[in-house]
Amino acid sequence: MDMEIQHVRCLIVGGGPAGYTAAIYASRAALSPVLYEGNEPGGQLTTTTVIENYPGFPSGVDANKLMNDMRAQAEGLGADIRRGTVTGVDLSVRPFRLVVDGVTEVEADALIIATGATARYLGLPSEQKFRGLGVSACATCDGFFYRKKDVAVVGGGDTACEEASYLAGLCRKVYMIVRRDVLRASDAMRRRVFNTPNIEILWNCNTREVLGDDSGVTGARLERSSGEVFDIKVDGFFLAIGHHPASDLFSKWVKTDENGYIVTDGVSSRTSVEGVFAAGDVQDPHYRQAVNAAASGCRAALDAEKYLQR
Ligand code: NDP
Repeated sequence: MDMEIQHVRCLIVGGGPAGYTAAIYASRAALSPVLYEGNEPGGQLTTTTVIENYPGFPSGVDANKLMNDMRAQAEGLGADIRRGTVTGVDLSVRPFRLVVDGVTEVEADALIIATGATARYLGLPSEQKFRGLGVSACATCDGFFYRKKDVAVVGGGDTACEEASYLAGLCRKVYMIVRRDVLRASDAMRRRVFNTPNIEILWNCNTREVLGDDSGVTGARLERSSGEVFDIKVDGFFLAIGHHPASDLFSKWVKTDENGYIVTDGVSSRTSVEGVFAAGDVQDPHYRQAVNAAASGCRAALDAEKYLQR
């Protein structure tokens, strides 16, 4: 079957705060951006409810509304926002070549990758059932809702320690559910956790079920490696077992780090391939906040503009 080929000056892949912000800036710079937002428009934010830490919203803002508004703002300024998932990439040619949904071929002079990252979950049906109702993969986003309550964090890496420490400042008690008898985290993070009195580590434990009722999460059923099964009472259940940056399609071409995050040059959004820029969580293993993603989308559009002017 012959493929339809379209030429685009500035192609943005990813419909989260980074992609939409890049589209806003690229539209205003008259780069006629086309944005493919994949099959989860709005990105990771749409898995949460109210956002209280995005500046400019003193009463908080509904996450879906914020994403819809960013999208509408980009469209209002002229961005061409399309449903569709990029399924093929060739960054060895100029213009770059991408395939969308296996059927549409697009050529792009400049490419902004803003495909985000996804948190890893345990894969329990009960965990899915209570997602957004007490189950969360972002303590910074949702910890505030559990002030003075008891919560659990799953994982023993740096993220888990960081999230547990953050939650310990807000919550009455934080359980860390660790599947081995050691923390994988760095020495400094381990020490911080050990020195926080309201963090209790449950060693050698795996989660069997997240428990809950109509009000949301009420606890978790755990199993020790000895086979003992027991319940803990918690209102919040936080996953911190790692993230997957959505860079697989691009990692053949652009440099990524050992965890798959796209490497950018200093504070810029420039990747190892000239004319290809990366923004948001796909290149940010550390800060992972909507406001940072938006800011890096802005940088990517400005970098793309400069590149296209040459
Ligand atoms: P990691 O992969 O380092 O750690 C994941 C943790 O989750 C491990 O303790 C792992 O256990 C546990 N885990 C994985 N799968 C399961 C499962 N199915 N059930 C129970 N537990 C599970 O991920 P992080 O997100 O913590 O860190 C990613 C990278 O980012 C690391 O390189 C880290 O150092 C870095 N980072 C650095 C920070 C900093 O410097 N401030 C902050 C946050 C992250 P096990 O150990 O048994 O495999």
